[in-house]
Amino acid sequence: MVNASRGERWRKPGHAARVVLRLSDVPKADIELVGFWLGVVRVFPAREYALEMGYLGPDLLDPDFDFDEAVRRIEAEPDREIGRALLDQRKLAGIGNEYRAEINFLAGTHPAELVRNVDVAKHVQLARRLMWANKDAPVRVTTGIKRAGETSYVFGRNNKPCRRCGTLITKGFLGGEGDLERVMWWCPRCQPEPGAPAPHGG
Ligand SMILES: [Zn+2]
Repeated sequence: MVNASRGERWRKPGHAARVVLRLSDVPKADIELVGFWLGVVRVFPAREYALEMGYLGPDLLDPDFDFDEAVRRIEAEPDREIGRALLDQRKLAGIGNEYRAEINFLAGTHPAELVRNVDVAKHVQLARRLMWANKDAPVRVTTGIKRAGETSYVFGRNNKPCRRCGTLITKGFLGGEGDLERVMWWCPRCQPEPGAPAPHGG
């Protein structure tokens, strides 16, 4: 969600807007919240907020993000795949499929690697850094390069060469073939499959 005054120019294209929320009275009538590229939207009365949202883990875009609590919630299930844990909004809130893919790449972990075998704090730090850097950006960039086709390391780059090592990026399904919500991309060399020997060099 992007927060602006009504009438102010949106920072992302209009065709990407999915929800526009406006206040009708207090505290200010001219506040406008625009949700871009939203996958799922649910609307409920404010009095049901705790009931509906109480399950959520620490919000990555909260200025007071509770880092330790997010790490604790992920580490509480050591036998889960890290790729699955990162998408679990009860553990930490905000990561979608695109960020998940990029976080795993930057951490050098295969999405199917178990939580017990990875540096969870490193993943949460990467999540926070990537999402905070992109919170007002018109296009998500995880590589630092805004040119079209170069904004991500692995997300959406099936069969393209890894930006670090040149190996072709692979695409698969963490939850089984056809589970579109769980599409994952990874570099087979930078992110070795669970149980594979660690790559040399780096
Ligand atoms: Zn690579």
